[in-house]
Amino acid sequence: MSDSQSYRDADELEAALAYLIPTWCYTRIANPTTYYLQDILALLEGYGTGCDTSCVVTASGMSAIAMATDAFLVKQKSGPEKINFVSSIRLYGGSFQNFNVRKKQERGVEVRWVLHPENIQEWKSLIDEDTRFLYMEAPSNPQQSFADLKALADLAHSHEVPFLIDATCATPALMRPIGWGADIVLHSLTKSITAGGLAIGGAIISRRPIITKLKNDHPLFTESFAEYIQFLPYRDQGPAASPMNAMFALNDVRTLRSRMDLVSQNCQKVAEFLHKHQRITRVDYLGLPSYDLHPLAKQYMKLVDSDDGKGAEVNRYGHLMSFRVEGPPENARKVYDNFRLIFRATDLGRIKSVATIPAISTHQQQGEEARRLADIPPQLIRLCVGAEDPADIIADLDQSLASL
Ligand SMILES: *Cc1c(COP(=O)(O)O)cnc(C)c1O
Repeated sequence: MSDSQSYRDADELEAALAYLIPTWCYTRIANPTTYYLQDILALLEGYGTGCDTSCVVTASGMSAIAMATDAFLVKQKSGPEKINFVSSIRLYGGSFQNFNVRKKQERGVEVRWVLHPENIQEWKSLIDEDTRFLYMEAPSNPQQSFADLKALADLAHSHEVPFLIDATCATPALMRPIGWGADIVLHSLTKSITAGGLAIGGAIISRRPIITKLKNDHPLFTESFAEYIQFLPYRDQGPAASPMNAMFALNDVRTLRSRMDLVSQNCQKVAEFLHKHQRITRVDYLGLPSYDLHPLAKQYMKLVDSDDGKGAEVNRYGHLMSFRVEGPPENARKVYDNFRLIFRATDLGRIKSVATIPAISTHQQQGEEARRLADIPPQLIRLCVGAEDPADIIADLDQSLASL
């Protein structure tokens, strides 16, 4: 928990602060508890991929996303005036605001939105020589969008730009994008990784090395991007994770694989129930065989170290889903207000079931037009299924839908 270590003498102090020897100099830069979490997340995200990885943990998922993306949006000495990046529009509301307001409106960075991220041609048509990176969220919160991750990584690399992906809703238990060519994986640790709901945190995990044509004097920038962030911009901008929060994440990460297995199976049952319900016009869940992105997700989302008895890994699609209630938005609000077991809250990834209406919560700020482009109507309820008996969750949904 300590904010800094003490030193033997001036020589040791000087060497530590020049990063010449390992040090827990100051928690904003280096702390043993957060380091331990970083090493574990780097190992989990790199597991089975054959790639080396490094990780830095941050105060929140948003600070991880902001730190990782801003590092590619710096001015180059003789570079162009206008720079851009290409991103899926199907994003967590905070990421949308960071890109659209902080980067585009405030700093004049062009954000080129991909409306249908599963369409690789759409990405291709938006990239030019001033593109700094490609950005995707998969599965996306709340729409469950997905894309061919390998094709996207290959496309990025053919333009010498990195592919960044927010894989919060999958966690490394179900998907490790670095193995498919992603350069940088981002997580909100607040969600499924710290399922107890007691801490906020984020993580940047990078492949060693990343692919980028951007010039940076520091060798760590390409060789070990997460360490570069930690020792330079992170030090200077201050989004360090609290060691207390790192400890909560460490405690919960031990059960990540078994939890994701259980809650994915629960969510599958709930999604199948809602899919057949007359009052529901549409269910978005990658695990539903009838869902258009199911075949794509099937290639990528698999429970780590599982076996279906024939030597293949078992598919699991996570615990986030969304459904649309028929009729006007008031109907969705009524169903929502009638939940007895499911919690009404804006977080997700919990061990208990939690639901929100994104249009009036997580995606309220981005406005109606951006919600329309991102396919988030006011009838949409986002549900993250927990570890309760799925029959109880189904019964709760059934009774609340009966209130219509
Ligand atoms: C919640 C969330 C974030 C932001 O994380 P915070 O920890 O709330 O800052 C980013 N991406 C996704 C997919 C999220 O669900």
